[in-house]
Amino acid sequence: PRRSNPPPSSSPPLGAVGEESARVRVAVRLRPKNTHDLLSDADFFDCVHLQPELNKLILKKNNWTSDSYRFDQVFTQSASQNRVYEAVAKPVVEGVLDGYNGTIMAYGQTGTGKTYTLGKLGKDDASERGIMVRALEDIISAASPSSDTIQVSYLQIYMESVQDLLAPEKVNIPIVDDPKNGQVSVPGAAVVTIQNVDHFLHVLQVGEANRHAANTKMNTESSRSHAVLMVSFQRSVTNKEENNTCFEGKDDRNVLAGGHVIPTVRKSKLLIVDLAGSERLDKSGSEGHLVEETKFINLSLSSLGKCINALAENSPHIPTRDSKLTRLLRDSFGGSARTSLIVTVGPSSRHYTETASTIMFGQRAMKVVNFVKLKEE
Ligand code: ADP
Repeated sequence: PRRSNPPPSSSPPLGAVGEESARVRVAVRLRPKNTHDLLSDADFFDCVHLQPELNKLILKKNNWTSDSYRFDQVFTQSASQNRVYEAVAKPVVEGVLDGYNGTIMAYGQTGTGKTYTLGKLGKDDASERGIMVRALEDIISAASPSSDTIQVSYLQIYMESVQDLLAPEKVNIPIVDDPKNGQVSVPGAAVVTIQNVDHFLHVLQVGEANRHAANTKMNTESSRSHAVLMVSFQRSVTNKEENNTCFEGKDDRNVLAGGHVIPTVRKSKLLIVDLAGSERLDKSGSEGHLVEETKFINLSLSSLGKCINALAENSPHIPTRDSKLTRLLRDSFGGSARTSLIVTVGPSSRHYTETASTIMFGQRAMKVVNFVKLKEE
């Protein structure tokens, strides 16, 4: 089936009317030049030019050839973390607070700013904080301690094995699809109930340290795995309140009984996904074990691409079963779930091919429209 969430039954889903709000939102972020770019030899030039007022990106192949692409937003080197959050992530976070699942993903070549955009802690300078911290800040400040629970799990997908970044001894954790309600869960993963922003910063730091340690042990780089922060938001409501909003996961829902006010729990889920580097086998110049790794990375990124294309083409079959990554995303991507994709690129023509392929991935995602009718198949 195309979508796994039960269709919301009360008010019409936000983002279900009008293409603008319904489809996957795709933004491009250009990384500032680093010393490598500045010192690289004269054969290379700036191949990415942005026109933010037109949301346009111009990709220059050489002095004679260039292509232009339109996105929902384009962010120049000087765009602040706050601007990127407000434009790209906030609508998804607001959806989660209203009861809709959501996904925010970053896709791009290693070194182009995926982790900076999503995972930056900004411990010394809050203006540097990335999307994960800002999302939790917003969710925590919207939550009521008496009725709401915020929980996080933090996972890594490496060579088609799901690992727990909060309990690093747990590897190969199964992903469970509930056939009754189509919800995806990872019941074996550690779940931490978040008390406040400092607590969340600590949890993220623990996860990052475990990721680093696990990757050192496996002799690999973080850029070769996907990191998935899973935030679950639960609100206790009464059936009276429930008529005013609609929530995705209604598994704990009680029925209206003779006008009595019955407490229920509504759940929604936010996934923030720092994808493995999009660079291809030839660039990584890999051998042996690295070839195997690269095959798995290519499998999950290409299966993500296939799902995006299938959604864009309105295909009745979305091939989410092909990889762990797409299985995990199944109930939080398409349908009434709000999805934002940030594609990150560097400025230099040294990486023209990677940059062009990253941009094409983003262009395909621009076509995904999550119409209401898709949910009812
Ligand atoms: P990736 O996760 O795609 O491999 P990183 O997020 O690690 O890339 O970014 C590579 C380097 O570039 C880091 O040192 C990061 O701090 C820096 N960087 C990336 N994007 C920005 C940005 N928009 N502003 C400032 N520094 C950035």
